[in-house]
Amino acid sequence: MRESQNGQILGSLSTIAWNSAERDIVAIYLDVGRVPWIQMGCSTCRFCGRENGCAELTDGTYVWPEGLSHYVRERAVRLPAGFVDHIVESELQITPDRVNQAWWKAAIPDWRT
Ligand SMILES: [Zn+2]
Repeated sequence: MRESQNGQILGSLSTIAWNSAERDIVAIYLDVGRVPWIQMGCSTCRFCGRENGCAELTDGTYVWPEGLSHYVRERAVRLPAGFVDHIVESELQITPDRVNQAWWKAAIPDWRT
């Protein structure tokens, strides 16, 4: 697929109708994935030409290119609903009431030698 075709496809996925609060959650989530591998060359943004990273990121379920958050944040490129739902549900799981405070208060260092 040529670069211009990629840009056209990305452009068709861009919409200002995407709820900005949800889009922010998704963009932040995409920024903090773990790096399973790095590619031999960097990609550039299909819209503005900026260098858009050379790594892949993962949360253990999905893998995405490092620059994906740029498209979400700057161009409102909308991602598949299943992926967005996964991200939002993952974020909702992180709440202070789910932290086991008793374990942290009772924890004794048990580093292995
Ligand atoms: Zn760009």
